[in-house]
Amino acid sequence: MASAEIIAIGSELLTPDRTDTNSLWLTRELNDIGIDVMLKTIVGDDGSRLEEAVRDALKRADIVITTGGLGPTADDITREFTAKAVGRELVYHDNIEAHLRERFKAWGREMPEINKRQAYVIDGARVLPNPNGSAVGMLYQTEGKFLVVLPGPPRENQPMFTDHVLPLLRAISGEVFVSRRLLRVAGMGESAVDEIAAPIYKKYDNVETSILFTKVEIEIHIAAKANTYAEADMIAQRLTNELQAAIGKAVFSTNGDTMEVVIGKILTERGETLSVAESCTGGLIGRRVTEVPGSSSYFMEGAITYSNEAKTRALGVDPGIIHSHGAVSPECAEAMAAGMKAKAGTDHAISVTGIAGPDGGSPAKPVGTVFIGYSGPAGTRSFKIILPGDRYLIRWRASQAALEYLRRQLMKG
Ligand code: ATP
Ligand code: MG
Repeated sequence: MASAEIIAIGSELLTPDRTDTNSLWLTRELNDIGIDVMLKTIVGDDGSRLEEAVRDALKRADIVITTGGLGPTADDITREFTAKAVGRELVYHDNIEAHLRERFKAWGREMPEINKRQAYVIDGARVLPNPNGSAVGMLYQTEGKFLVVLPGPPRENQPMFTDHVLPLLRAISGEVFVSRRLLRVAGMGESAVDEIAAPIYKKYDNVETSILFTKVEIEIHIAAKANTYAEADMIAQRLTNELQAAIGKAVFSTNGDTMEVVIGKILTERGETLSVAESCTGGLIGRRVTEVPGSSSYFMEGAITYSNEAKTRALGVDPGIIHSHGAVSPECAEAMAAGMKAKAGTDHAISVTGIAGPDGGSPAKPVGTVFIGYSGPAGTRSFKIILPGDRYLIRWRASQAALEYLRRQLMKG
């Protein structure tokens, strides 16, 4: 299988202000035709380092792609030092200059003389036209290896890559097709998921599986490769099914849908409605649910009842419950959910009350203690969870735990 390296060029990419996103896009494109990216490098506008980086990359990889540094100014050094790296001269193409002059004329401007630099190309390289900018790209083949030199702006290098590079690479990578799945898992840790998943996905040789954790869930990324798309897709589906069967109900999505989308689909399908009563999540659940287009058909209202008094006034929570059990208690969570459901007249209501920290914890109720309440057609119930993390993570994880609790209740009904 062919391997690739990507070199992003530009001193601004070595500052905290600019991120190399070109390599992310290119990696996805390469992966989709079965080419693995083995190393990425960022080089500033420094000729000798660039030359060395390109030369080293060509020793290791079949395909080396650079982006950036093809502009007309003196700090645009890519032409000169990629040529040095492959031991070739730059040659002047008068048709490129003529074409540039015409473009400038069409914009109603005279071509600045420095743009002549952009008419130089590595001797023996194929010129990659750039309909969206002034810098042409280059494709140079040496000893069975490819050096691809692309301009920096995504709107220039993406069409150039798709139109002129991808078809060639597809031919050498031997028509590999990739089918992907993204499974999302709630309420389990990374190692617990991997313990179940690894013995399964390790049986699949032509599938790349990675397990990533986000602030609220575990993601299982699957990329199956085969000679036809249909076969790749069948393998991806088979592995998905096996993983889902082994991990069970905690897998809430196999197509990348987020928790709020999954819940939206269930509620829409059933024609049922939801309201939420939030304390420590401060509106996060309402925000997440309403980020989904079309949520107005099932989400009716939410209340952020932070103080005890608000819980009583807005949700009708009995002050006696708060007095005897505290605001962070199963009794209060249930009263919040039942009160919300009654006031909003929805089919389902969820509530959250907890201690997000950093202060407010006690030995009996440490920071991270959260009670989730649910009230629905079959009654009102609650559960306790102790969430790890700082205030930010506890709030996000509490919102996820509440939505997951709702999903589990909906699965029962
Ligand atoms: P130009 O002719 O526009 O100067 P260039 O090939 O010299 O093209 P650069 O000057 O290196 O390209 O970059 C131009 C712009 O392209 C940058 O300001 C940035 O917005 C974008 N860019 C460059 N490199 C990257 C990268 N690795 N990821 C994302 N964007 C990039
Ligand atoms: Mg430039």
